[in-house]
Amino acid sequence: MSDTDGKKTLGLRGGPRSGQVKQSFSHGRTKNVVVETKRKRVMVPKPGAGKGGAGGAASSDPSRRPAGISDAEQDRRLKALQAAKAREADEQRAREEEEKRREEDRQRRREEAEAKEREDREREERARQKAEEEERARKEAAASKARAEAAAAQPAPAAADEPRGPAAAKPAPARKDRERDNNRGDDRQNRGKGRDDNRRAGKLTLNQALSGGEGGRQRSLAAMKRKQERARQKALGGGDNREKIVRDVQVPETIVVSELANRMAERVADVVKELMKMGMMVTQNQSIDADTAELIVEEFGHKVVRVSDADVEDVIDTVEDKEEDLVSRPPVITIMGHVDHGKTSLLDAIRDAKVVAGEAGGITQHIGAYQVTTDGGAVLSFLDTPGHAAFTSMRARGAQVTDIVVLVVAADDSVMPQTIEAINHAKAAEVPMIVAINKCDKPEANPDKVRTELLQHEVIVEKMSGEVQDVEVSAITGQGLDELLEAIALQSEILELKANPHRAASGAVIEAQLDVGRGPVATVLVQNGTLKQGDIFVVGEQWGKVRALISDTGERVTEAGPSVPVEVLGLNGTPEAGDVLNVVETEAQAREIAEYRENAAKEKRAAAGAATTLEQLMAKAKEDENVQEMPILVKADVQGSAEAIVQAMEKIGNEEVRVRVLHAGVGAITETDVGLAEASGAPIMGFNVRANAPARNAANQKGVEIRYYSVIYDLVDDVKAAASGLLSAEIRENFIGYAEIKEVFKVSGVGKVAGCLVTEGVARRSAGVRLLRDNVVIHEGTLKTLKRFKDEVPEVQSGQECGMAFENYDDIRAGDVIEIFEREEIERALD
Ligand code: GDP
Repeated sequence: MSDTDGKKTLGLRGGPRSGQVKQSFSHGRTKNVVVETKRKRVMVPKPGAGKGGAGGAASSDPSRRPAGISDAEQDRRLKALQAAKAREADEQRAREEEEKRREEDRQRRREEAEAKEREDREREERARQKAEEEERARKEAAASKARAEAAAAQPAPAAADEPRGPAAAKPAPARKDRERDNNRGDDRQNRGKGRDDNRRAGKLTLNQALSGGEGGRQRSLAAMKRKQERARQKALGGGDNREKIVRDVQVPETIVVSELANRMAERVADVVKELMKMGMMVTQNQSIDADTAELIVEEFGHKVVRVSDADVEDVIDTVEDKEEDLVSRPPVITIMGHVDHGKTSLLDAIRDAKVVAGEAGGITQHIGAYQVTTDGGAVLSFLDTPGHAAFTSMRARGAQVTDIVVLVVAADDSVMPQTIEAINHAKAAEVPMIVAINKCDKPEANPDKVRTELLQHEVIVEKMSGEVQDVEVSAITGQGLDELLEAIALQSEILELKANPHRAASGAVIEAQLDVGRGPVATVLVQNGTLKQGDIFVVGEQWGKVRALISDTGERVTEAGPSVPVEVLGLNGTPEAGDVLNVVETEAQAREIAEYRENAAKEKRAAAGAATTLEQLMAKAKEDENVQEMPILVKADVQGSAEAIVQAMEKIGNEEVRVRVLHAGVGAITETDVGLAEASGAPIMGFNVRANAPARNAANQKGVEIRYYSVIYDLVDDVKAAASGLLSAEIRENFIGYAEIKEVFKVSGVGKVAGCLVTEGVARRSAGVRLLRDNVVIHEGTLKTLKRFKDEVPEVQSGQECGMAFENYDDIRAGDVIEIFEREEIERALD
C-alpha cells in the first residue's frame, strides 16, 4: 500500500500518470476515480513518513474501513485533508502567478517582434525609395538619350506591365515603376535581405515561444508570416499590386464560396468580404449562383468561364464514329402485344429452339435478354421482358434500345386495346414493326381477320400489299418461327444497323437488382463499343468498375460487343432499367458524374409536377422552332368519343403547330399511358375517364399532366388554345371529394340510396357529382339527398360514412366511386 503511495508521489513529479484510485469522504462514502494530475496533486505533498502512512490509510484503503472508525483516526484524516487543501490553494496561486509572468513575457516578446518588423519595414521602404530614385534617374537619362528610338527600348516593359494590373485598375505611374523595379535584380536582392530578416524574426519568435513553455496562446508562425507579407504589401503600395496572375475561372451554375476562392487562388476571407460588400452574407461553405460568382471573379480581376454543371458529363466519349470504323451489329427486338396473345410463349419458343444451352447443365439463365442465331446465320438479340411498360420506361429514360418491334396478335382473337397501344408505342418511337400472327395452330384461327383489323390502325401488312412484314406463327407447335426470325433478319438488313466495337462502351440497362450474394447486378445491352472487364463506368446515378461479365448462357466472358446483353458485376449501387451506361477513364470522373446526376435528379424530382404540362409544351414549342408538333394522349369513356376527339384534334393547328395524337384509347388512364406520355413529353387528356391510383402516382412522380374533361368542346378548346399559345391556366373544375359506395339500399319513395364512405376531401350537397365505374364516368348529375345517419346534411367530411342518392339516376352499384366537383363559371366567347 505504502509502496503504491510512494510511486504516486513520484508519478506526480515525473509527469501524468493514470490509474484507478478510491477516494474517501466523510461518513464512509467512497468513490472510484481515474487519477489525473489534478487529483494527484491533492495528495502530493504528504509530509513526513508517519503522516504519509496515515494519508495512505485515508486515501488508499477507505473501502475496507468499517463504518464506525475511531475519532482520532477520523480527526487525523480530516487534518490531512485540510492540509492538502491549503497546499493546493497555495499551489494554485503560484501557478497563476507563473502564468501571468509568462503572459507578460509573451507580450514583451510580441512587442519586440513587432518593433523589429517595423524596423524591417522601414529599412525595406528606404531601400525601395533609393532604388526608385535610381531608376527614375536612369530612366530620365535613358529618355533624353533615346527619345527617337524609344519605341524599341521603353514600351516593351511597359507593355508587359499593362495586363498584369487588375482588370480596370489604372496603375499610377509610380506604382508601375515600382513593379518594374520588382523585376530588377538589385532590388530583388534588397528585398530579399529584408525578407531574410523577417524570416529570422519569425524563427526567433517561434523559438522564443517554444522555450517560453507549453500551453499559452502564441501567434502561429503562419500568422506571423501573413502579417509580414501584409506589411510588405502595404509598403509596396497596396495589396492589389502584387504580381497578379489573371486566371480563367470556371464558374458552374452554383459554386461553393471556398471553391470559388480556390479556383481564383484568392483567400477565402477576401472572397467572403467582397460578397459582404455586395450585401451577401454568406459563409465559405455556402453556395452562390453563377451570376454572383461572375461579379466576384471580375472584382478580383480574373476571367470568367461559365460552365454548366452538366459539363462534368463531357468526359463521356461522344465522338461520332467514322464510317470506316463501323461494322454491322445484331438487331435488338422487343415483343409487344395484347395480354395473353402469346408474347411470353413466343419468346420462350424462340429461345428454346435457337439458344444452344450453356455447357454447364444446359440451363439458360434469365438475364433480361438473349441472343439467337438464325439458320441463315444472323444473330438477333431479344429483350426478354415483353410488354409496353419496359419499352416505354426505357424510352422515357433516354435509352432507345429496340430496333424492331414484333407485334404479336392472336389469330383466334382480334386487335385489342393493348395491340393498339403497342402500335402507337412503336410509332411514337419510330421503330419498324413486324406482325406475328400467333396461335395459328388453333382451328378457330383467322389470320386474315387480324390483317384486316390492323388496316384500321394504319398497319398495312405485306399480304394486304403494305410494307409491314407479317408471319403466321404458333408458339406451341413452333410453326413459322424460322420464318419470323428470317423476317426479323431481313428487316435488320434494311435498317443497316451499325456500331463501332473499338471504342469505350455505351449501353442501356435492361434489368437490375440487388443480388444477395453478388451485390448490385445489372444486365446491360451494349449499344456501341465493347465493354470489358476492368472498365470504369457510370450508369445513371451509379458508377462502378466491371468486376465480372456474365453472358446470357451463364458463362463468364471478358468482353461484350455491340448488341450483346451481359450481366455486369461491380456496381456501387443498383441502377434502374433504362439507365444508360458509359465507360469513362477514371473513377473520379465516374463518381463525379454519378454525383452530378444524383443531384440533378433530386432537383428534378423537387420540381416535378410541372414537367409536361400543356403550357410548358407550348413554351417549348415556341422556343424551339423545330418542335412543331404538339403530342397528346387521349383516353375516353367510349370508342365513339375517342374517335370524335381524334378527328377534332386533326383539324386543330396551323403551319406552325400541329396536334399529334400519340395514342387514343378507351378506358381508365393507366400507368402505361403515363409512361408513354412521359417518354414523349405529352399531356394526357381524359374524357369522362379517370386515372387509376398507380397511374395517378406515376403521373405525380413523373410530372405528367392529366387533364379531365366531360365536354368535348372544352377539351378541343383547351388544346386549341394551347396550340395557339393562349392557354390560360384557369381551372374549370375542382374535384372536392371522392366517396366509395359500400352498399346500395332500396328505400321506398326515394329509390336507390348509396351507403358511402367519403375517402377524400368532402361531399357537398350542392356540388356536382359523377359516378365512376372502373375509372370511367358513367353518370354526371346532382345529388338528391346527402344524409348522415338520419339527417339531411350540407356536407360530409373525409373518413365519414353517409348516404347519397342521385337525382334522376338509379344505376348505382357497390364499388362505384362518386366524384364530387364544383364548377367555376368561366365566361367564354362563343366562336
Ligand atoms: P402473354 O400474356 O402475351 O405473354 O401470353 P402468354 O405467352 O402467357 O400466352 C397466353 C396463353 O396463350 C397461354 O396459355 C399459352 O399457352 C397460350 N398460347 C400462346 N401461344 C400459343 C399458340 O401459338 N397456340 C396456342 N394454341 N396457344 C398459345
